[in-house]
Amino acid sequence: MKHLTEYRDARRVREVLDEIHRITTRPWRLMEVCGGQTHSIIRHGIDQLLPSGIDMIHGPGCPVCVTPQAIIDQAIAIAAMPDTIMVSFGDMLRVPGSRHDLFQVRAGGGDVRVVYSPLECLKIAQENPTKEVVFFGVGFETTAPANAMAVFQAKQQGIPNFSMLVSHVRVPPVLDALMSAPEVQVQGFLLAGHVCAVMGTWEYPPLVEKFRVPMVVTGFEPLDVTRGIYMAVRQLEQGRAEVENAYERVVVPQGNAPAMAIIEEVFETCDREWRGIGSIPGSGWQLKPAYAPYDAAKRFPLGHVQTIESTLCHAGDVLKGILKPNECPAFGKECTPRRPLGAPMVSSEGACAAYYNFGRFETAPTLTSES
Ligand code: SF4
Repeated sequence: MKHLTEYRDARRVREVLDEIHRITTRPWRLMEVCGGQTHSIIRHGIDQLLPSGIDMIHGPGCPVCVTPQAIIDQAIAIAAMPDTIMVSFGDMLRVPGSRHDLFQVRAGGGDVRVVYSPLECLKIAQENPTKEVVFFGVGFETTAPANAMAVFQAKQQGIPNFSMLVSHVRVPPVLDALMSAPEVQVQGFLLAGHVCAVMGTWEYPPLVEKFRVPMVVTGFEPLDVTRGIYMAVRQLEQGRAEVENAYERVVVPQGNAPAMAIIEEVFETCDREWRGIGSIPGSGWQLKPAYAPYDAAKRFPLGHVQTIESTLCHAGDVLKGILKPNECPAFGKECTPRRPLGAPMVSSEGACAAYYNFGRFETAPTLTSES
């Protein structure tokens, strides 16, 4: 498969790894900002093939994981209402709310459906004119264009029984918040390639300037990830801090103009709550006033929804890279993919699920410059 198999070529990956070993003289802490990269790193054992002083930290890059539990509870409350069809991407159904999840709502008779595109919701709405169809619109910049298009089309086509529960988040503000937090010690970032495919790289130079950290746009295949790590380490070793692109076959600096245009048409920036991290100014998107009639949070009474977070789950520390998943006391005990306590153990992009599914039950020894 062109543009895929060649990026899984073990010989080429080994060559890049050898180069990383050759240029590394000191320990470095790098954070990947994408759950897909986390899974690639853990699945292929890339972190274990790096020089022992290079520590890969897993950031808040899983969209399901960073969605606050309060929004999950709101989605569950809407799904349980009569004459309502709740539609979502599959990962969201198993994310535990305060009392149950969307799967349990469906088992109890609720109409909860999975789609691969939010535009499918418009057809569902047209086929069910007596019901309210609500799409659970979460995610980073990657999913925002399609979600924006669904709302735009609903307005254009005059579909009154469609709305969206929006919990969109943006990468640059959370990187700013992480780097401003004294407990987060990151020296370089692998930026999420698919986010940059939409937005380009123009938002990142001010962050590089502010924090003097390298940021490398990185893809998801083993060769992509190792190239991203190599370019970040090379910058650090040379004392540089720049935005570089290790995913040139997909990402251009200016981004995807039509995708950004539909986002701009439908969404405006807002403060957003992140699971375990808290509210970050300007870190989300919400529907513009012109599209407010399609906002499920305004259409449905949700004031009664109460959220109780698990006291055992350390998702916030995992998402900030302070704790590795297997350092969470509940990992593999109270919390497993079959009985998850938090979203990072559920999602296909969650760091806890990656550690569990690929057998990372042992915590790594503490790394030092001598190791
Ligand atoms: S292992 Fe489970 S309980 Fe621990 S942080 Fe991850 S999701 Fe939460």
